[in-house]
Amino acid sequence: MKNAGVLPQYFVEDDHGPIVPKAVYYQVQGERKRRSALMLDPSKLRFGKRLALNGRLICGHCGRVLKRYVKPDETKTDWRCRQRAMVKKSNLKEGTGMRCDLRIVREADVQNVVAMAFNELPSMRDELIVAQERLLTGEIGRIDALLSTLNGQQDQMENRLDQLAATMEEPVNTTVVSEVGGEPEVDGSSTEVEFLKAQIVSIRNQKNALYAERAEHANKEVQLRILLELVEQMTGEVQEIEGGSGACYDYEEFFRRTRYTVPEGVIQDGRMVRFDNDLVIRYLENILVEDHGYTVRFKAGVEVKVEG
Ligand SMILES: [Zn+2]
Repeated sequence: MKNAGVLPQYFVEDDHGPIVPKAVYYQVQGERKRRSALMLDPSKLRFGKRLALNGRLICGHCGRVLKRYVKPDETKTDWRCRQRAMVKKSNLKEGTGMRCDLRIVREADVQNVVAMAFNELPSMRDELIVAQERLLTGEIGRIDALLSTLNGQQDQMENRLDQLAATMEEPVNTTVVSEVGGEPEVDGSSTEVEFLKAQIVSIRNQKNALYAERAEHANKEVQLRILLELVEQMTGEVQEIEGGSGACYDYEEFFRRTRYTVPEGVIQDGRMVRFDNDLVIRYLENILVEDHGYTVRFKAGVEVKVEG
């Protein structure tokens, strides 16, 4: 599979439906609109003041999200498992509530962990590129090949159905009911029609499952791509994305024009020196808080373990 432009295929709509289901197409369109809206008005470059860590810190003991606590005199902010926060001591005494014993973490520490995870990315650049290639030529390529085979089979069956329909419309003498007392002769072509219809339904179901699977991989691939763009900004090695011609052009152009620029002062000498809400919202899936460290999970499907 040559340098696969995923996006142009979103626009292919034929009898077999788009290569990627509509839901994903619209999702991408939405992202595209949102990005271009951001482009027009620099003041909208911020996602808003929403706290980036909200809902992104996950308890390593019970899987619930952590809740933010600000000390009344505002000298300290920390995060604690919701299951710890919500269960009152009185409930504990009565044995009516289970309290999660995950440690309390300081917000400043978590922010530091996030910066450390981002700073691991440049050293993971090759790994990211391999993962992206594997998605394009491996998973996505395999699914495209399967879809192509299934489409071919469906075509054949539909053609055969058309043929059968044409012969059945002609006055047929072969389906005359047999002699008295015998079973009616089975119409050979109508059983074949039923068989073909069932096969086509089965193929459609297989294709729908593949579309969904492909959409997941395609989404990961997009996430890897924008993460690689960030790495390039961190290392200052902005490279032209290869391709840029033919079918891939729109796709590459889309990324080039909507390139995200890291706010000034966040990255210095290739390192993230300041915690940034936008970067967290853009690239992080969540952060698992464990007893002796954190697992920082990026939307691109890679994770970084940080001790602390
Ligand atoms: Zn918990």
